[in-house]
Amino acid sequence: MIEHYTEALVLGRRPQAEFDELVTLFTKDLGKVEAFVKSSRRPLSKLSPHLLPGNLVRARLVEKNRLQLADVLGERPKNKSADFLRFLDFLNQVTPWAEPDYPLWQLVKEAAHQGELDEGTYEKTLTVLGFYSDESLCVNCGSGQIVYFITPDVIFLCESCYARLAGSLGKENAVFRFKKK
Ligand SMILES: [Zn+2]
Repeated sequence: MIEHYTEALVLGRRPQAEFDELVTLFTKDLGKVEAFVKSSRRPLSKLSPHLLPGNLVRARLVEKNRLQLADVLGERPKNKSADFLRFLDFLNQVTPWAEPDYPLWQLVKEAAHQGELDEGTYEKTLTVLGFYSDESLCVNCGSGQIVYFITPDVIFLCESCYARLAGSLGKENAVFRFKKK
């Protein structure tokens, strides 16, 4: 049995069986992980209030045959803006499993502290992850004036190509405006 103590940002949670959950955490020391949480959906669970998406927490994770969240302490739950919750979804989509990324952790922690986003948060995230650089171009026309990032394909589009192709891109939740005009 291995124990990890790490800071983490709660990215999401989903129910398991009657009273349990799986929680997705972006952690400082382990990168993005999914952990089982026993009984957190029981009415008086002490863990549950800390597991709201967007919360910064200190997690004790126990590794046996799977990763389990044994204990968690965190900031008081506070409302996060809709923009920030969408950013969590973005982060969940672009980060690999189990790869610690300290620069990304610093960036994300800063954003979570504020509870909202700076203008450059998306761009910085894509830069740190190595998806974006000054040389990134619109996949359709080759323009450098890109404003949209499409997560499953890891491609960029400029404003006018996006307007033209929007209908054929499919899922709206995979398209992120990462730059202001
Ligand atoms: Zn274009």
